[in-house]
Amino acid sequence: MAMATGKPILILKEGSSRSRGKEAQRQNLTAAKVIAEVVRSTLGPKGMDKMLVDTIGDITITNDGATILDEIEAQHPAAKLMVNVAKTQDKEVGDGTTTVVILAGELLKKAEDMLDLEIHPTTITAGYKKAEGKALATLEKLAVPVSFEDTKTLTDIATTAMRSKGIEFYRSALAELAVEAVRRVTETRDGKRYADVEDIQVIKKPGKSLAETELIKGLIIDKEVVNPGMPKRVLNAKVALLDCALEVEKTEFSAEIRIKDPTQMRAFMDEETRMLKDMVEKVKTAGANVVFCQKGIDDTAQFFLAKEGIVAVRRAKKSDMEKLAKATGAKVVTNIEDLDENEVGEAGLVEEKKIGEDKMVFVENCKDPRAVAILIRGGLERAVDEAERSLHDALCVVIDVVKDGRIVYGGGSTESELAKELKHYASQVGGREQIAIETFAQALEAIPQALAENAGLDPIDIMVALRSAHEKPEGASMGVNVFTGKIEDMRELKVLEPAIVKKRALSSAVEVASMILRVDDVLVAAKPPPPRPGAKPPMEY
Ligand code: ADP
Ligand code: MG
Repeated sequence: MAMATGKPILILKEGSSRSRGKEAQRQNLTAAKVIAEVVRSTLGPKGMDKMLVDTIGDITITNDGATILDEIEAQHPAAKLMVNVAKTQDKEVGDGTTTVVILAGELLKKAEDMLDLEIHPTTITAGYKKAEGKALATLEKLAVPVSFEDTKTLTDIATTAMRSKGIEFYRSALAELAVEAVRRVTETRDGKRYADVEDIQVIKKPGKSLAETELIKGLIIDKEVVNPGMPKRVLNAKVALLDCALEVEKTEFSAEIRIKDPTQMRAFMDEETRMLKDMVEKVKTAGANVVFCQKGIDDTAQFFLAKEGIVAVRRAKKSDMEKLAKATGAKVVTNIEDLDENEVGEAGLVEEKKIGEDKMVFVENCKDPRAVAILIRGGLERAVDEAERSLHDALCVVIDVVKDGRIVYGGGSTESELAKELKHYASQVGGREQIAIETFAQALEAIPQALAENAGLDPIDIMVALRSAHEKPEGASMGVNVFTGKIEDMRELKVLEPAIVKKRALSSAVEVASMILRVDDVLVAAKPPPPRPGAKPPMEY
């Protein structure tokens, strides 16, 4: 409310709230720090899990930063920004979500101390930006190339991404599956490699054990074969994909047909049957013995298909049809008239199997599939869920490295090396920005520190040892071995991460921290009041 001539002028809507200046700043910093604190204890292989209970009492047990933040439904706007940065990291590179939040939280926590020293937010953000530039340049130098053929290293990368999750005994098997899946869907265009996690279908079914998780060179369609008269198993399948119904279209307007004698009735029925038979004939002459149809299949058509020994699935999902096309090489046909042998794809085996309670159709042994599937099995539903999240991380990091071709070493080694370089750099910059750059370096050290804390190690001892290891030549890959509690070479331990994950984590952390720091006014619009139970809707005149 502003007072100009003694009369109050209403600027904000009634019920809106506003906090400004130092107060707004502090509130934002606190909210962001709280978010970082929540996930800090989950970082790394020794990180703890969180048990999340939602409003209807459903439990999720996880250690995945993005999942945790997604579930806690933060309310404060600054906290929401932190949650979003984790989500973006997850979407873009699939890993490093906890890291980015811890880094941003640390940058803000340390910014608070600088604000106390009367350093202006603009100076802080400028210093952070400079530090980021230097850190990214150093990261370029630390990055190590990895070849697409080097499946051993790719598997180590997948393993590192899955280390922190509760799937210990099956980790290496899952990591190998992830690498094989990604390699199969990778394409090379103009000398560049592309892979998309969307081309890897992950289907989970509780029951059996994680050891039974398998890679399918093809796809799993969560549907039954449409008619029990059809074969359940077809070898050397020739697959047709139809985006048109195997039905006779009903006319738009109703017409009355007066049938005077039974032969006319027959003729009329025969006509419909003949059309359906023709459609099936089309499928047959195209050489297909398996049909996936995005639309419906008439009972009569089913009968004819079954008679020809053709397997059919109806109402397949559009996304599955696209994957089927990639896996079998078939083309999706929108008009049955266009179907011929050129549009038909191949699969070594198409089979309906019963998995747990449900029947599903497996399209397997495709020759050179551009889409594959992983079927996750495992005792408890929650275990299967966590395995899925883990596998997702593994697939993402392998894809990151296949696309970008470079890794860095983990276990806090890269962060420590960057911190060391930044401290040198800060002294060259001087002035108030120097303080911000030094602070940035300390913030990076929060990563090895959190890894150590979570492993029950003394963070002070570890950091002293880590810094001195990095002062030595060849010390760049020294990090925290959370299992032995010693400073060891992460190159030898094969703790490997995609370079792009670290790059993104750094940039996004700086971005969100700066954004929050620059805010000095928070205006929150009033929420519309909830309607009273039983209240009549407002009258309109
Ligand atoms: P994020 O969500 O950021 O990926 P994680 O909980 O997956 O968080 O932990 C990732 C961190 O754990 C990285 O810094 C990585 O280098 C580290 N890490 C993974 N495996 C090991 C290991 N065996 N020893 C030490 N650190 C490890
Ligand atoms: Mg991770």
